[in-house]
Amino acid sequence: MPTYKVAIVGAGPAGYFAAQALNNSADNDRSFAIDMFERLPTPWGLVRSGVAPDHPKIKTVSKVFEKIATGENFRLFANVEIGKDLSVEQLQDRYDAVIIATGTSLGKNLGIIGENLRGSLSAASFVPWYNAHPEFSGVDVPMDSDTAVVIGGGNVAMDVARMLALEPKELDPTDTADHAIEAFKKSAIRKVYIAIRRGAEHAAFTSPELRDLPKLEHTNVIINEDEINAAIARVGDSPEKDVKSNLDAMLHIAQNQKTEHDRTIEFLFFHTPKEIQGNNQVEGVVFSTPNGEVTIKSGLVVTAIGYNAIDIPGIPFENGKVVNSDGRVNGNMYVVGWAKRGPSGVIGTNKSDAAAVIELLNQDLSEPKNKNDIAELLKDKKVVTQKDWEAINAAEIAAGEPLSKPRRKGITWDQLMAHAEIYFF
Ligand SMILES: Cc1cc2nc3c(=O)[nH]c(=O)nc-3n(C[C@H](O)[C@H](O)[C@H](O)COP(=O)(O)OP(=O)(O)OC[C@H]3O[C@@H](n4cnc5c(N)ncnc54)[C@H](O)[C@@H]3O)c2cc1C
Repeated sequence: MPTYKVAIVGAGPAGYFAAQALNNSADNDRSFAIDMFERLPTPWGLVRSGVAPDHPKIKTVSKVFEKIATGENFRLFANVEIGKDLSVEQLQDRYDAVIIATGTSLGKNLGIIGENLRGSLSAASFVPWYNAHPEFSGVDVPMDSDTAVVIGGGNVAMDVARMLALEPKELDPTDTADHAIEAFKKSAIRKVYIAIRRGAEHAAFTSPELRDLPKLEHTNVIINEDEINAAIARVGDSPEKDVKSNLDAMLHIAQNQKTEHDRTIEFLFFHTPKEIQGNNQVEGVVFSTPNGEVTIKSGLVVTAIGYNAIDIPGIPFENGKVVNSDGRVNGNMYVVGWAKRGPSGVIGTNKSDAAAVIELLNQDLSEPKNKNDIAELLKDKKVVTQKDWEAINAAEIAAGEPLSKPRRKGITWDQLMAHAEIYFF
């Protein structure tokens, strides 16, 4: 039976779901030997460094990833960056197929004055900072003013607002980075605005996330009821199911507002950012609204307006995504996940997406080529294998146990590599 060698670049949900789809498509005629490459010493992509730490249930999908990873036909090569440690050409040459699953990690800019001031951050820095991504532990997050502004109308904006407005003690039993918990405890922020460019009917939140908001035990959530009623009137009698569900969830929040807490999240619709004001540091944000210009005084602005993919030499990119036709890129290269579609869709969306691409890949495969093992090109590199990662994982979980946390994450590259060290020799 022929065995095809497949390289998957990126150990996020899309990469693992591609591996799963390959396994599901194996039969008496073909099997797959899968090598997964990841630039960080840790796998799981945004499940580790994106998903909010106060939503631990969502991270249980990692059990599915680990089951795939312990298959006999699977090898993890973490701490290996494609485009730097190995080239795309080397992969294309040594594998029957190469699947790009590198996501989109670069925050989009607003392109307005003041965006580079201290205190103006992208969610693409703020989120990995609180999630202990080893490249973001040093991000400067000034939280000494009483108000923060989050710009964006999707789930990332909502995560960011929630993290800023939570009672920080609620983060103690989570895997939030130690430095972030400490900073949130010192934070003076008590009011967080989510500023959304359009009306409530166009917001890209998903309704389960909206319905979770009123469950916050120490935070008021304010939505103007008139705004939601106006949006309901605008969409008419037969809105799309998701829009209706979102508007219902927002109406529920608007009609059941709490005001007793000293921490508040407030939604502002039809607020288009015009300028971030300040001298050396953010002092306020100017918005244009249907009623004229409005300035909100604030020392912290976080933009959550989407992501672009980072270019990797040897892969064609356009408009922040890999150029592709239904996941086919060129030659034996394919793309899945956010690198293919752009930054939209929940974790599960990547599963059906990957399955469809693997179907095409299977159609394209001809005779397997007998190729040399990639490991010989990585002799001088400290590769984090699945065993090494399991050592990091176990060390983090053990460190979290006495603190009733699911894990206490390593926050620097060195710390993570040290956890794995015993397996290197
Ligand atoms: C802040 C945030 C919160 C989210 N919360 C939720 C949620 O609560 N629920 C939900 O269902 N979805 C959530 N999502 C969406 C979900 O995370 C995505 O659908 C999913 O992670 C996309 O998977 P991916 O594999 O395409 O990309 P990613 O998860 O980004 O994985 C890409 C991987 O590729 C690696 N990589 C990049 N470049 C290279 C390279 N050159 N060489 C080797 N490796 C490389 C990266 O390090 C990363 O590990 C959230 C997204 C964000 C941004």
